[in-house]
Amino acid sequence: MNTLIVSCSSCGKKNRIPAHKQYLRPKCGHCKAPINMINQAVPVELGDQDFHDFVKQAPLPVMVDFFSPTCGPCQTMIPIVNAMARDHLNKFIIAKVDTSKNQQIAIFFNIRGVPTFMFFKDGALIDQISGAVSRDILEQKLGTL
Ligand SMILES: [Zn+2]
Repeated sequence: MNTLIVSCSSCGKKNRIPAHKQYLRPKCGHCKAPINMINQAVPVELGDQDFHDFVKQAPLPVMVDFFSPTCGPCQTMIPIVNAMARDHLNKFIIAKVDTSKNQQIAIFFNIRGVPTFMFFKDGALIDQISGAVSRDILEQKLGTL
């Protein structure tokens, strides 16, 4: 999984925060002040090894962007997915899976084209949609979780 570097607003020290812990109200490792994650959250990068455990244990509904780095429509979705991760911190978890590197999970979900977006709640797949779509459509799906 990916890690982000966030400066503490109290002491200024940089903290390395695993992306899957950005939802757990992280504290500064130096001064123990809460780290302000507003506008800092990023999509959680998941793969074959950690996908199932993460989704099963996720404390919030999860949207997953299954993408491939060589897919043009996937590229157009990157800024949308990044913005949703920032805007939905502590409400929804936004995750992504590079299907070119994680083929087991792509086969498991029978993903035939990218981008494909899947929506999970309490570990269960609730809904999915394929192709480059507008943020409004993704937001509507999240709204039903
Ligand atoms: Zn600090």
